[in-house]
Amino acid sequence: MFDVIVIGAGPAGASAARAAARAGATVCLLERAELPRYKTCGGGLVGLSADHAGVDLSNLVRASIDQLTVTLNGRLARTRRRPGRPMLSMVMRSEFDRALADSACAAGASLRTGVHVTGLREVTGPTGPAGLDGPAGLDGPAGGEVRAAERFQRQQAGCVEVSVRGGPDLRARVVVGADGASGRTGGYVGVRCDQVDVGLEGEFPVSAPTARRWAGRVLLDWGPVPGSYAWLFPKGEALTVGVIGSRAHGGALRSYYTDLVRGLGLDAVTPLHDSGHLTRVRAVGSPLRRGRVLVAGDAAGLLDPWTREGISFALRSGRLAGEAAARAALGDPCALVDYPRRVEAVLGPEMDAGREVQAVYTRHPGLLHALLTCMPGTFGLFGRIVDGRTTVARQLRRPGVRSVTAAITR
Ligand SMILES: Cc1cc2nc3c(=O)[nH]c(=O)nc-3n(C[C@H](O)[C@H](O)[C@H](O)COP(=O)(O)OP(=O)(O)OC[C@H]3O[C@@H](n4cnc5c(N)ncnc54)[C@H](O)[C@@H]3O)c2cc1C
Repeated sequence: MFDVIVIGAGPAGASAARAAARAGATVCLLERAELPRYKTCGGGLVGLSADHAGVDLSNLVRASIDQLTVTLNGRLARTRRRPGRPMLSMVMRSEFDRALADSACAAGASLRTGVHVTGLREVTGPTGPAGLDGPAGLDGPAGGEVRAAERFQRQQAGCVEVSVRGGPDLRARVVVGADGASGRTGGYVGVRCDQVDVGLEGEFPVSAPTARRWAGRVLLDWGPVPGSYAWLFPKGEALTVGVIGSRAHGGALRSYYTDLVRGLGLDAVTPLHDSGHLTRVRAVGSPLRRGRVLVAGDAAGLLDPWTREGISFALRSGRLAGEAAARAALGDPCALVDYPRRVEAVLGPEMDAGREVQAVYTRHPGLLHALLTCMPGTFGLFGRIVDGRTTVARQLRRPGVRSVTAAITR
């Protein structure tokens, strides 16, 4: 029996395993793939991701970004440079995730790769039926929490059984589900998502002159499909090119991607990787826990609804989940109940702000382009948001900004 089993060794899972092990729990980190593994992702680390990674990034960063080219559906290009602190750092997810998993192991977690989790089952203690086995909302009354805490104490002998393909079941006091957007644990916990997007992405090897042309510079294109955008991220000898937008517009997104690749002159280049992946944004108030199972990162639908930036959300929710899981496994009856509230306090305002911006952006993509390219100070502000010195949530609370946003969305 482990104190904590973490399912999935992406940023959320590795961060959870590391936090739980550091808190003194016995931790097993289960990963379906062999590491390093490819993950469909731009590999762009915003400032918050770099701050919360907790690993030495110096050997992982392929490019530091201080220039941004923005276009509106391939037109009206404008390039701006911001000297000094880089806005973004580019990594290969295979290398970044491997380093995170190594740091979890260094903290004391045991990593098992090639282990495919197929199901979860909560086993209650000998004293009665499960008290924590239903989806838990965020706003339970205080009396309910005390009762939940008492039930938890009564159930100290309870655990979660984790079924794995081709092997014996494993057991833990608490499980953290960090198995990504297509994993099983989100469904087990009852996570509801109200925004499902599809990302299409290719990684293209490029010649030295092309690599030089994009060195230190990213391209963002505000797309023709409502709420979509495209990116080009330089990674030294390779470029990552992708688009993301609502799954409802899958066919149009495919055309957008094809046109983008052609427009960049990469259509004759055989990509190193060419793949698609869903992202799912949780609905407000959606569960983050069911009994002794917590969910973090993409499994919980925690990512920015506008940019679909998810690494910083995965790292931060993973750490909170790992800490809560360890505290619960080691006897703190309130830890599991606290987890959703902590996530909501830290990530909730950022997700709310992302929803607001996405609503405006979906209706008026040209407005964002005009603000970024023509309005003094906006590019600098964008840079400070990306590098983590401020957040969209903080900016939306500024006097005047809220009323302007409300007027635009009406
Ligand atoms: C096209 C695209 C581009 C993106 N670009 C960026 C970007 O540039 N920057 C950014 O911040 N975010 C980006 N994101 C979002 C980001 O990739 C995710 O938010 C992030 O990977 C979430 O991390 P995670 O640990 O929650 O899940 P994941 O990284 O998906 O990790 C989940 C892990 O669980 C494992 N797993 C799944 N099922 C099982 C199972 N049954 N048993 C055991 N293991 C299992 C998987 O193999 C995987 O290793 C992008 C997303 C897409 C789709």
